[in-house]
Parts: sequence; structure tokens; C-alpha cells
Amino acid sequence: MRMLLAVSLIALAACAREKKVEAEAAPAVSETSQPTVGAGEALHAADHAALSAMRAEFAKVDMAPDVSFLTDEERRVVNLLIEAGDLMTEIYLRQRGPELPAERTKIATMDHPDKALLLDLFDLHFGPWDETKENKPFIGTDAMPAGAGFYPDDMTKEEFQSWIAAHPEDKAAFESPYTVIRRTEASAISATEVRMGGLVAIPYSVEYRQWLEPAAAKLKEAAAGTSNASLKKFLTMRAESFMKDDYYDSEMAWMDLDGTIEVAIGPYEVYTDNLMGLKTAFEAFITVRDPEQSAALSKYKDFLKEMEANLPVDERYKNFKRGFESPIAVVTQVAGGGDNVPGVQTIAFNLPNDERVREAKGAKKVLLDNVMGAKFERILAPMAAKVLVADQAKLLMKKYMGAETLFHELSHSLGPGTIVKDGKETTVTAELKELHSPIEEGKADVLGAYNILYMMERGEIPAAEKENFLATYFVGIFRAMRWGAAEAHGKGASFQYTHFRKNGAAVWDEEAKRYRLDFAKLEQGIRDLTRDVIVIEGNGDYAAAKQFLDTVGVLDREAEAVIASMTDLPVDIDPVYPERI
Ligand code: ZN
Repeated sequence: MRMLLAVSLIALAACAREKKVEAEAAPAVSETSQPTVGAGEALHAADHAALSAMRAEFAKVDMAPDVSFLTDEERRVVNLLIEAGDLMTEIYLRQRGPELPAERTKIATMDHPDKALLLDLFDLHFGPWDETKENKPFIGTDAMPAGAGFYPDDMTKEEFQSWIAAHPEDKAAFESPYTVIRRTEASAISATEVRMGGLVAIPYSVEYRQWLEPAAAKLKEAAAGTSNASLKKFLTMRAESFMKDDYYDSEMAWMDLDGTIEVAIGPYEVYTDNLMGLKTAFEAFITVRDPEQSAALSKYKDFLKEMEANLPVDERYKNFKRGFESPIAVVTQVAGGGDNVPGVQTIAFNLPNDERVREAKGAKKVLLDNVMGAKFERILAPMAAKVLVADQAKLLMKKYMGAETLFHELSHSLGPGTIVKDGKETTVTAELKELHSPIEEGKADVLGAYNILYMMERGEIPAAEKENFLATYFVGIFRAMRWGAAEAHGKGASFQYTHFRKNGAAVWDEEAKRYRLDFAKLEQGIRDLTRDVIVIEGNGDYAAAKQFLDTVGVLDREAEAVIASMTDLPVDIDPVYPERI
């Protein structure tokens, strides 16, 4: 996600992808890196126990998506899209490192007792680095270059910037989300003169032509095979985008998709570029829409204004300036490709990132229901028994993990954005600086909960399930706290936890070594904390934000013990999708 100009859009974009968030935050594993020598060349890898522990963090789940309702035509189209998605995977592996396919082959030909496990981990993480441990290498000793495969390994930020300063005509191409930067060779001009090597921007359509051409062909074939006009238009335009490095028209067309097949394919997020945050990674989400659930959830976007009006704060903290449409799709993921495949799995995304499209059409929120469901079954549900007393642990409901995910996203677009401080117009982001992310993520959680309670009050969500929701929400706080307070969502979760401990909503049962929730107090706590956080944001008061985080963002002994008891639960899932449907 590129830095955005409009505050309302920053808020919308804050959770473009839960995946990155979770990826930043997994607990650390032992770092026993020791050289292991194979029969031929030496292969340095972590020891067997460490590798096995790493593998166990990701629970393999056979996704078996339900596609029984698809017509034969839709099935053929989806299979073509899966093939195009596989090509995104080929590209993304090279975007992480152009040499990675060769490295994998090398490992495969070496003699090493853990070879199968190493290859499995290499495929899980798309390379020899563990994304959940800040990209630390588990094979070899080389750290992942900050610029991944987008730039020369040895190029620094300073070199990139001074090149642009010296060659202003290169600025647009160098900063484009759709180019890679490479070194040019030094070349002889004459017997005595040598031209020094420099930097050059190469368009994706050139660098990745070998895979983009067949991918475009697959999209065109799928476009020819579908009778859905909106899908035909998007796929045709996206195929052209691959060849011309201009995605504006096809992003506009993507916003208008209205059929069963909901597909995102192309270069999207910039998270892999940790050097400049400029270059987009190819990925694919091949999904099918659940029409009933999408319609059921879509109604909530129409309540955004009323939710703003319902904020438990003075009128001056409310913000009615935003007015973007916010389509919501609930989908079943059938296959992934590229950046979507390795490591921690995405459960929701908010695209496109192109500011011009957002201004014209807003952004689409897509909830990957089966991915979220798998995380509920494998992680959140078993976590409940470690957090809550038995009679409350059984209250958890999957649908409220989904509701909290959706309302978290919606709540990013509520509350203060552009504010006036000391007579000057400024933004919450600018005033709260590095404290903004944890405050804003915690705000989206607690305001999400507040809004779900509001929807229950309005009769839009069954109020009889209030305790089911509250229990699910509270355990969800632990799922995020597990990622650590160094990370925005983890810190945001810890201030919610502390608030609910202080106001008596979460009472420690010493005998059960679990919490017992006082639901009335939890409801009150959600209201109070929503108010506190919005006021901090609305005042743009950095000192107050700092004091707030310092005093409420620290975990107590009980929370630490509960989190420590979770080591047997996977950090994330490793979904297995069918090769074709
Ligand atoms: Zn968020």
C-alpha cells in the first residue's frame, strides 16, 4: 500500500491485508543455526528440531472449497484463472529473488538428512527466509535483501535517491510500481575509455514477459469463455494491462465485477519491497462469491453514516466528510497465486490501491470466508479453552469472527481523519506519528465491537447472541496479543485487554486459571474505550497517546501465562487447494 494523500483513505487502507500484520508478529523460535554438511557442497541449515518446530507453526488444512453450485462454464473459467494464478506464483518467486528457482534446484540435488523438510519449508515461505521471524534465513546465512528481487542486492536507498537526483528524467520510471531496477554493465567506449555501469528501470512487461504473456493468454481465453459481461471486461482489460504496465482501466473494471466469480490477479501490494516500499508483488485470489452472505453483509455499509452519528463522543469528534462507497464481497477462496501463497494467510483484503480508482469508485472489501473459517477452527476455537472458563469458552461462534473482521475494516473509515489543531488543518496520522498505527488498529477492533453491539440494538444482528459475540471478540484479543506488543495489532489488542481487566469485565479465576467475563461490564468497557481512543485521535494529542499506550498497553502476569500456554496452537494455516476444480 503506497502512502496515501487523503486521510479517509489512509484509514480505509490501514488493513489492506491482515496477512502482513500477522506475518510481522509471530512468536520467535529458537535460532539454533548450525552448519550441516551434506555429501557434496556444504548446506547450512537450522537443526532438525528447529526446522520441525517451524513447520508445526503452520497447520496443513485441506480446503476442499465447495464449488458444487458452479455451472460448467464457470468451472472452465475458474480452471483457466487457476492456471493464470500459477503463473503469478512463478513471477512472485522471482520477485522475492531472481535466483530462487535455481537455489531450490540446488537444494533438491544436495545430500542432506532434512532435505525434504527444507524443500517443504522453502515452498511454504517462498525462499530460505522465515517471514514470521523478520525474514531470518533458515537455510544459509544470507539475510533477505530489503529490496527483495526488485533491485540489485547491493543497491542502497541512498544510491536509488541520488540516481534520481542526478537523472530526474528517470524519476517516473524508477518510482513506478511496475518496474524493477537493475544495474547496467560497464562498457568499453574505446581502447582507453570505459563507460561506468549505472542503474536502469525495466518494465514488468519486459522483465516478466515469459510468464505475463501466457497469463494474458489465459485471461483472454477465460474472457472468451464467460458469459458474464463484467468479468469478460475485467479479464480482457487485465490481459492488456499485463502487456502495457498500466492497470488503471482494469482496476476500474474490477470494481464493477458482479458475478459469481470474484478474481483479483495482478501486481498489488508493496509489502515485499522493504527497501523503498514502491514495487508491487504479483498475486492472485481466485474466489467464488457467496451471494447470500455478500448480500447479508453488504447492508452494513449503508449504516456507516449512522454508525458515525452513534459514536459515543461529542459531536465535534464525529466526521461526516467521508462518502465513499464500500462494496463488500464474501467469498470462498478456490486457489491462490503469487504473494497470496506463502506464509501467513490473508483473511480479508481491501483493494485496489490506486488512489484515482478509490476516489472514483471507493474500495472493495473482500472477506475470504473459508480461510477465516479454517483459522477459527484451528486457532481461535481451541484458543478459547485456554482463555475462558469452560462454560464461556463454548460460546464462541465462527460468524462473529467474521463479523468482527468486517466491522474492524468498516470502523477504519469512522472517526476523526482530518482535524484542526491550534487553528491549523492537520491529520490524525500526522499528529500521532508512529503511535497512530497501534491506536488506530485498537480503535478499529473496539469500535468494530461497539458497532456490532449497535447493530444488535438496531435488530440487524440477533441480540440473543450478544454473549456469543462478546466471548468471540475477547478471545480474538488474545489471538492478536500473541503477535507481540512490538506490532500495531498486538499493541492495539493489549490496550483493549488492559482496559477490560481494569474495569472488571475480565475477572481472573485463580482455580480455573482462566478468565470469567462479566458481559455487562464488557459492554460498558467497549463503549468507554471507544470514546477514549476516538478523543485521543480527535485531539491529535501525541503526548496523551503516548501516556495512554504506556499505561494501558502492558500485559499482566495472567495474560502472559495464558499466552505462554498457547505454544501448541499453530500460528497460522497452510491451506491446500485443489489443483483444478
Ligand atoms: Zn486494521
